[in-house]
Amino acid sequence: MNIKMKKKTFKCIVCNKKFLGYKINQSKYCSRKCYYKDRLLQSVKKYKTTKNHLKKLSKFLIIWLVGFWEGEGCLSIKRDYYNKNTNKQHYKFGFLISQKDKQFISSLQTMLGFGQSRIHTRNGFGSCYVWELGDLGEILAIVEVIHPYIKLKHRKEQINKFLNNYRVKLLTNFKQK
Ligand SMILES: [Zn+2]
Repeated sequence: MNIKMKKKTFKCIVCNKKFLGYKINQSKYCSRKCYYKDRLLQSVKKYKTTKNHLKKLSKFLIIWLVGFWEGEGCLSIKRDYYNKNTNKQHYKFGFLISQKDKQFISSLQTMLGFGQSRIHTRNGFGSCYVWELGDLGEILAIVEVIHPYIKLKHRKEQINKFLNNYRVKLLTNFKQK
């Protein structure tokens, strides 16, 4: 219980402030605020690279993806952090397609050339395979591209809401850097 861990001085990679932390944590950020700020900046970079990547894909592939996403996919927004006192909150995002067929998911990832694939197991439901984007910048980039091809009304509403809420948030940061 009384193992003493040596505290070390770290420099925050966002604000350059020096702070004491445990080496074991490999601390990069002096605070949660700096952590989320950096995550947002990383997202801006990912937005740019994903947009460039998507330009290389054929329109046919994009439209094919839209059909699958409308039927078998989802856009999820979950709360990652919430502070009751300050009312500060941060979110975790996911843009995904799930299938029982592993082959389908790995082919999808190969064709698209980005995103992650993983296995998802739910008790009583067996396993399924998921192709996923987990970064706000990546998701915003793909949503902007698929947006004109979406057919289903509830999907359109969901996508419009997402664009209205997060495009400005990300792209205001974009301009600053
Ligand atoms: Zn900091």
